[in-house]
Amino acid sequence: MAGNFFSVECPDCENEQVVFGKASSEVACAVCGHTLARPTGGKAVFEGEVLETVEAR
Ligand SMILES: [Zn+2]
Repeated sequence: MAGNFFSVECPDCENEQVVFGKASSEVACAVCGHTLARPTGGKAVFEGEVLETVEAR
């Protein structure tokens, strides 16, 4: 499970963005700048809806 990526939908503009599941810094939406994920020391907490899990390659 560790190291997976997640496809997160921005709650503001519905932009779909792939976010690392253990992001160590805040990830903002590339379109509107809304925070999509914020680090909590381990797993990131997602602000938007997670659409799917993308397996690490
Ligand atoms: Zn957005």
